[in-house]
Amino acid sequence: MEPLITVKNVRKVYRMGDEKVVALDDVSLDIYKGEIVCFLGASGSGKSTFLNMVAGLEKPTKGEIYIGGIPVHKLNEEDVTLFRQKNIGFIFQAYHLLPMLTAVENVSLPLIFRGVEKKKREKMAKETLAVVGLAGYENRKPTQMSGGQQQRVGIARALVGNPKIIFADEPTGNLDTHTSKEVMEIMMAKARENGRTLIIVTHDRKIADYADRIVTIQDGNVLSIEENQNGEKTENLSEQEKHNSKGSFQ
Ligand code: ADP
Ligand code: MG
Repeated sequence: MEPLITVKNVRKVYRMGDEKVVALDDVSLDIYKGEIVCFLGASGSGKSTFLNMVAGLEKPTKGEIYIGGIPVHKLNEEDVTLFRQKNIGFIFQAYHLLPMLTAVENVSLPLIFRGVEKKKREKMAKETLAVVGLAGYENRKPTQMSGGQQQRVGIARALVGNPKIIFADEPTGNLDTHTSKEVMEIMMAKARENGRTLIIVTHDRKIADYADRIVTIQDGNVLSIEENQNGEKTENLSEQEKHNSKGSFQ
């Protein structure tokens, strides 16, 4: 099976005046369709940098990133934006909802960029809010909802356009333990149900335990890749994956 995402020797160096910060040193790995992969690492290890690179939000200093065969690292700003709108849903730690908009309006946003007409947008947004357990909350604004409810709106917004890949950057970082569990379970169930690929980054081992594979990042490098026994799905490993799971990254 061809990987959905291929990351090859990706490096990211930030320059701050005379100083260089190596946020990602040299990361290579493959991710397959329908996989739920978690990147686990301490604060500052390069997790967000990695996610932003793969989602096309930032360009690597070196290396290549392919999604469905498309060289994301080579796309210009306009093409990468279109690519993101079409293929990628993003869930943020701080929800990133627009405060002046209602839940249904926030969830509709990605559909506007895709040119879906208003009636249909609203219908899809309402259905997706129901999917994340927020039927009846359509007209609430973010300040009228709890953190967990706001993050469910964030999940609905990521799911509504049926993107191929969902990225989540510390999706439970602002939530208590109980609410984190609820949010994770909704996110997992929806990704599984629709065979979507979900990439989560977190510093929390309990969150990582939901994934099929756990990639531990340290100082901008992959330290280890483990198949997670607690993950619900086990698959036959390809040769490349076997290679990768030995953690042999140059
Ligand atoms: P994590 O998400 O694992 O906490 P990040 O990817 O945000 O880590 O950051 C990795 C390293 O890169 C850190 O040392 C951070 O300070 C640095 N870094 C991240 N973004 C920038 C930036 N825009 N400019 C300079 N340094 C950055
Ligand atoms: Mg981060």
